[in-house]
Amino acid sequence: MQKFQTQFNPSATPQSKPIPGRAMVLNNAGGYTFEIDKWKALDRFLVLGTEGGTYYASETTQTYAVSERILKCIEEDGKRVVSRIVEVSEAGRAPKNDPALFVLALCASAKDPKTREVALAALPYVARIGTHLFHFVEYINGLRGWGRALRRAIAEWYTLKRPEDLAYQVVKYQSRDGWSHRDLLRLAHPKAVDGAQSFGATNSTLRWVAGKTEDYTLLLPLLAAFERAKFATTKELIALIREHGLTREMLPTEALTKPEVWEALLEKMPMEAMVRNLGNMGKCGLLKPFSEAATTICTRLNDVAALRKSRIHPIKLLAASTTYEGGHGVRGKGTWVAATGVVEAMERAFYNSFGNVAPIGKPVILALDVSGSMGAGTVAGVVGLTPRAAAAALALVTANVEPQYEIIGFTDGTKRLLGITPGATFKSVVDAISRLPFDRTDCAQPMLWAMREGVRAHSFVIYTDNETWCGTPHPTQALKAYRDRFVDDATLAVVAMTATSFTIADPSDPKQLDVVGFDTATPDLVAQHARGEL
Ligand code: CA
Repeated sequence: MQKFQTQFNPSATPQSKPIPGRAMVLNNAGGYTFEIDKWKALDRFLVLGTEGGTYYASETTQTYAVSERILKCIEEDGKRVVSRIVEVSEAGRAPKNDPALFVLALCASAKDPKTREVALAALPYVARIGTHLFHFVEYINGLRGWGRALRRAIAEWYTLKRPEDLAYQVVKYQSRDGWSHRDLLRLAHPKAVDGAQSFGATNSTLRWVAGKTEDYTLLLPLLAAFERAKFATTKELIALIREHGLTREMLPTEALTKPEVWEALLEKMPMEAMVRNLGNMGKCGLLKPFSEAATTICTRLNDVAALRKSRIHPIKLLAASTTYEGGHGVRGKGTWVAATGVVEAMERAFYNSFGNVAPIGKPVILALDVSGSMGAGTVAGVVGLTPRAAAAALALVTANVEPQYEIIGFTDGTKRLLGITPGATFKSVVDAISRLPFDRTDCAQPMLWAMREGVRAHSFVIYTDNETWCGTPHPTQALKAYRDRFVDDATLAVVAMTATSFTIADPSDPKQLDVVGFDTATPDLVAQHARGEL
């Protein structure tokens, strides 16, 4: 007898073959998966970006692939793309604003004049600080010419601001990517509208940027303070910081080695700057265990309302916390002793920065893809933050609110991940997960494991790059088998950790969901879906 039954079974297809009758595409690893809709590809790009590439594709290859799909979105509905960019960017849902600025530049260079118009009109909402503007200019520079509409949009970025805000922008974010404000003034020729209330102050600020100020007594107080800071003693500097709110970027570099300068800066330091400069404050000797600065910083991090208002992205807290706990900079020289209280406050802030996440309230399996490919590349360009480590941190957000959860890791088999709990510090989690051996990928493993062990779960959440390829059956078939034998309405959420176009979530099944990893909205979205509210 020929063994047909082992060669073809429509409910257990090898992942190297498509499920009969289903539209599936080959992923980078040589397995078949579903393809996400181009609008979802846009979302993945806006949140995850492609910085650092993936295990399979270089940064350039990945950017090319996703940009092709984004161009199709723009062609279909440019206005919708622009609203999506504004929505994700303004709410701070993405770790980095660069993808939003790049897609905005694509829209502002589109064939359709209406799309170009809405894109340029959205510029001040997406390019909220000087650095964003420089990035946008660098992105758009190669995409289209410097026509009148683009020049006007850049000019208005300057002239429609309150003069005090404009002054702050030009001294805080002075230059980036080879662009300075003076370069942009030369290109765009901004001039305040005659008759506007702030006419004089705006024009005097622009003249100062252009290096044409003759009478320094006419400058706005912040600009005058910036000029005085260049020649000030430490004592004078501290007074200038307190009186005019000078920030770190507005001070001469040598001032930044002095603890008393950092102490003055800390008084009004915005949340994100504070988090990014923990190491610097440690290095100069201001921030150490049991110091007053440590208490101040903890109090601020524990202020949940202020934290959420700052819209600091959890990845930034995660990255800063790991570096700070490590006691030395990623690139620069210098070491410090991390204050445990600050590390703990950073971890709490990480959980709080996702907003209110309501629990699923039923047994949930959090399954981390810890295969080889998840250990390569970076998430959002954060040094040391592999998709593996990022997935672990993200799983902890759900674990932190769920009464019943199990965290497992899988490759082509399954392992329990002990020690990865909401109580552990991120550094220990990242270290533990980075040490796991690399292996092949079978995304059906979490369901197969639950079946084998007779574990009754209401929800599976799988954190993966969707590059599954080895094993039989496909994940959606494994889920069906699990439902048939155990929990008939079990849900699956697939959390994508890279900006590819692949997903193991079956788009024809409403109880399966594909979401973007490290979108701040993701943990709550996963819980809502599992509760049947989507
Ligand atoms: Ca893999």
